[in-house]
Amino acid sequence: MIASVIVDVLSSNVDRVFDYKVPQGMDAKRGQRVLVPFAHRKVEGYIIDIKERSALGEEKLKEIIRVLDDIPAITGEMLQLMYFMQGKYHCLLAEALRLFIPAELRGGRVGQKSLPVAYINPDISAEEILEKLDKRAIKQAEAVSFLAQNVRCPVADLNKLFGSAPVKRLIQSGFILTEKVKVERTPYREISEEKPQPLSLTERQRAALDFIEKNSPGKFLLFGVTGSGKTEVYLRCIESCLRQGKTAILMVPEIALTPQIMRIFRSRFGESVALLHSGLSAGERFDEWNKLRRGEARIAVGARSAVFAPLENVGAIIIDEQHEQSYISESSPRYDTKDIAEFRCCYNKCSLIMGSATPLIESNYYAKTGRYKLVEMGERINGRMPAITLVDMRREVLAGNDTIFSTVLKDKIEQTLREGNQAMLFINRRGYSPIIICSSCGYIAKCSSCDVTLTYHKAEDMLKCHYCNARYYAIEKCPSCGSDKVRKSGTGTQKVCDLLKELFPSARVLRMDNDTTQSREAHLKIVEMFNRGEVDILVGTQMIAKGHDFPNVTLVGVLDADLSLYFADYKAIERTFSLITQVAGRAGRADKEGEVIVQTHTPHHYVYRLIVDYDYKGFYKREISLRETAKYPPFCRILRIMAISESEEDAKAVIKNIYDKVKELKKLFESDFIYLSAMKSPVSRIKNKYRYQILARVKDDEGKVTDGIYDIVDGCRKKNVTSYLEVNPSSMY
Ligand code: ADP
Ligand code: ZN
Ligand code: ZN
Repeated sequence: MIASVIVDVLSSNVDRVFDYKVPQGMDAKRGQRVLVPFAHRKVEGYIIDIKERSALGEEKLKEIIRVLDDIPAITGEMLQLMYFMQGKYHCLLAEALRLFIPAELRGGRVGQKSLPVAYINPDISAEEILEKLDKRAIKQAEAVSFLAQNVRCPVADLNKLFGSAPVKRLIQSGFILTEKVKVERTPYREISEEKPQPLSLTERQRAALDFIEKNSPGKFLLFGVTGSGKTEVYLRCIESCLRQGKTAILMVPEIALTPQIMRIFRSRFGESVALLHSGLSAGERFDEWNKLRRGEARIAVGARSAVFAPLENVGAIIIDEQHEQSYISESSPRYDTKDIAEFRCCYNKCSLIMGSATPLIESNYYAKTGRYKLVEMGERINGRMPAITLVDMRREVLAGNDTIFSTVLKDKIEQTLREGNQAMLFINRRGYSPIIICSSCGYIAKCSSCDVTLTYHKAEDMLKCHYCNARYYAIEKCPSCGSDKVRKSGTGTQKVCDLLKELFPSARVLRMDNDTTQSREAHLKIVEMFNRGEVDILVGTQMIAKGHDFPNVTLVGVLDADLSLYFADYKAIERTFSLITQVAGRAGRADKEGEVIVQTHTPHHYVYRLIVDYDYKGFYKREISLRETAKYPPFCRILRIMAISESEEDAKAVIKNIYDKVKELKKLFESDFIYLSAMKSPVSRIKNKYRYQILARVKDDEGKVTDGIYDIVDGCRKKNVTSYLEVNPSSMY
């Protein structure tokens, strides 16, 4: 027998299939991980095929050293997905495979965890043992009596109760025996359990479910306003999958949302749920993945990476908050979770359900033109959307208020606190102050490795770069002119918290952003504290904007709505619309009425009228016609080619080389090209690496231009330059 193997080495030179002989008696199967000899080394690889003969002749072939797991790590479906990804994203096969299994499995760095457990030697009874013990060995006797009652107990716990020396003596004298028992590491073990309250569906939920069922399998865009009860629709779809003996995947856009969704899922489905996301410990990730692969868990819940959950016989894939940018991977392979989910649904002949209150413009267009089926839930469960009030911050300044809180927002916060309700304040900037500027000469503090300004962090009294995480001492004097008029300008989450404590000394304020969620399970702790009412005001970045369902939140404040509006990016207005609509959607979700204050310096901008009216459809109409006229997605593709290098000359040279070849290609496909240019990236240097880019907009309905450019990029590689192509990138920076 011959096995075709892909070796786990990230290099385009060896990214193909190698044949190996299967030794007599070895149980080698497709999808299995194996250890093979490879260029004087032993490396891990994956069997992608088993066959009778090799075209190379068998004499020359080496033998597989050993098989690494009992169950194949890669399913037949994932092998096909691997080729799909190679075709679509021009990634290495080994790169795709690495997404499918936990890093902990590769290289065998983490294994099953086991714990020694103690029990009384069954050949000697507890009474006999107590007689034989020295009368002074009180602790040993206590331990034996304890075990007599409890039968089995982890040795570590016995040590805690009776001391490790007495326990050790009991083991040495053979009175108690130990054995190793496998334990599961379960993430979010201490999550508060919620009694499953079987909700009776509203008419709208029922109608949505009926529609999905009647049209399954299909691709559905579930357009449901915030608080319309989309989660319950997902739960019912998954219940129906389980009833049919199938499995299901549900994704949320943020690790911060996984505690809430796990609480709901655990109470509904118990142990059949496994969690996959990058914030888990290595051991947890390994165990959760194994539970799915072995069929012990049949529902995978998680962030983007859960789309690769090793489930078979998938009955539904659900993408919640489908408009979120985080569904597009920012490292190679730069996949869009929606594409992967579509592939898997097609393979499993099952439904894809994508939910949002603010669907992506492209997705809504696909829903209107037939690629997706549109399901609508136009009203909240409680029947009312919170009123949104716009506050013109220019007038506040004229009236002598130059703080970040408008008078009306201050009043509302006070009222919320008085009534014992909760508030959420949103500002999409972490740290204390985002700009450190000298009032005398205009010097602005910048990172020495990146082309970006530094943010002041008060807790550490440091300046930090949010791109490379470098830290600098805070400055008192201007390094350029020596003046001591150095100002900390602008406001981030830390400053908001400080100001709140000054204004409302008795309020309990908590911050949720990248800085406060670095430790493991920090998301869980913050969400639980807010849920239990131990916090009055939650201040945060976009992390608090989406998905959360806190019933006592009656006030939402958006402190600086314009932050995302003036990015030089065709999606800037779409992002502002969704972000503010989503944040607003956190208010008044249960019995209490909610309200939203949006502070802006440009209240006349048309996007705000649409936001205040909850007019997604009006927004879509306007946006889609703009894009059709100006030729932006979905009426074209945006291709961005990046070249990044420590040598500016080399990055430039690669871009120039690619640019010349793309211009040649353009001659062949003149009518497909709408726009083409080469330039420095907007952020021209990160971590001491220079960044150059080419931007193209192409019609390219058949994908020929895109494929051609992929080939050009591949053909223009240079050793110390990282170069790649992104299709409709999520960020233009
Ligand atoms: P969405 O995801 O659409 O923003 P959720 O699924 O979080 O909304 O639901 C909003 C709130 O309504 C939740 O607190 C949920 O428990 C509640 N809810 C959902 N469906 C029902 C129902 N059929 N009856 C009563 N309450 C419901
Ligand atoms: Zn100065
Ligand atoms: Zn930096």
